[in-house]
Amino acid sequence: MLQFAERLNRIKPSPSSMAGQRVRELCAQGRNVIGLTAGEPDFETPEHIREAAIRAMAEGKTRYTDVGGTVALREAVARKFLRENGLEYARDAIIVSNGAKQVIFNAVLCTVQKGDEVIVPAPYWVSYPDIVLLAGGQPVFVDCPAENGFKLRPDDLERAISPRTRWLILNSPNNPSGASYSREELVALGEVLQRHPHVWVMTDDIYEHLTYGDGTFTTFAQAVPAMQDRTLTINGVSKAYAMTGWRIGFAGGPAPLIKAMVKLQSQSTSGANSIAQAAAIAALDGPQDFVHANRSIFQKRRDAVVSALSGVDGIDCFAPDGAFYVFASCAGLFGSKRPDGQVINNSDDWVDWVLNSQDLAVLQGSAYGVDTHFRLSFATDMDTLMEGCRRLGSAAEALVR
Ligand code: PLP
Repeated sequence: MLQFAERLNRIKPSPSSMAGQRVRELCAQGRNVIGLTAGEPDFETPEHIREAAIRAMAEGKTRYTDVGGTVALREAVARKFLRENGLEYARDAIIVSNGAKQVIFNAVLCTVQKGDEVIVPAPYWVSYPDIVLLAGGQPVFVDCPAENGFKLRPDDLERAISPRTRWLILNSPNNPSGASYSREELVALGEVLQRHPHVWVMTDDIYEHLTYGDGTFTTFAQAVPAMQDRTLTINGVSKAYAMTGWRIGFAGGPAPLIKAMVKLQSQSTSGANSIAQAAAIAALDGPQDFVHANRSIFQKRRDAVVSALSGVDGIDCFAPDGAFYVFASCAGLFGSKRPDGQVINNSDDWVDWVLNSQDLAVLQGSAYGVDTHFRLSFATDMDTLMEGCRRLGSAAEALVR
């Protein structure tokens, strides 16, 4: 019989992918299920980016590239970091991978081993803990409750650091909460980290361009330049340019770390898709008006959802600073009963009830380390969103308090 490796038991399938699959199954059975689970923009990749890909194919850019990315793309990434983040990275300090996810995977696999700890502020993106566990490390979760704006406070960081800490993973704007750190907040975290020179920082900036309101985006190395030599700045084209399927992510960091990551990638996937790399250059160097236009569409949807949910008794949320998710509390519904007598005790019970009673899929906060909340993605059209909010209201109303 086929025996699976022990490391496989340490991880679970991505809950968001599972939920998407469940929605498709239910739709195939003829149910009118609405899925507000998407982790990707609902827009098409802009025309000029798709044209760049077609040109790349016509020009024969169809062969293996350098493992760490084509020189042309790494140069475009260096220009992006300088232009948008004020960060200078040499060509050998940049890696291109199959999405930001592979960048994180490479970095963790290269540096984390048995007994090592990685600080993961909760709520967190579902993949961080599993990648750490796969590497044999231990995720150390730090609760960042809604009262703290879902953000890591310096004192909490200080308490979480041990001699075995290898990394702090920072994700701003955050999936699922949308919380974004200001420059001052990053500086305060930097002050703690400067007292602990063995701790490195991985910043996942994939939602950089999806910020709302007045706050300007700042990445950690920009706020704390003294720590650029132990920071890995991760980003990609997936969310900002509606390019999730193209699978291009990148990072800037200290050259020895990047070299190790390239070595690992050389024995797994090799370089990212050559055509997608050409398209990513067009995205980074090309016109950015698409990014700004999308941001204002997302902002309108965010405001509409928050306003619709504010009328639902038992649900509590505030407008996120960034990304395209509302992370709402359902704790006000805990203890209430479904008509069949079953009690809603946690976010899984609530999400199950919403799906079964209203044909609406949202994601349980337990998957993100916060069991009092649930995540609703507003990366879909306004009519669907409003119908989704109406169904959430009906699901809450049907409960017996
Ligand atoms: N980081 C965060 C916080 C995400 O939410 C996601 C996707 O949902 C990723 C990284 C993955 O990005 P990519 O598509 O570039 O692999």
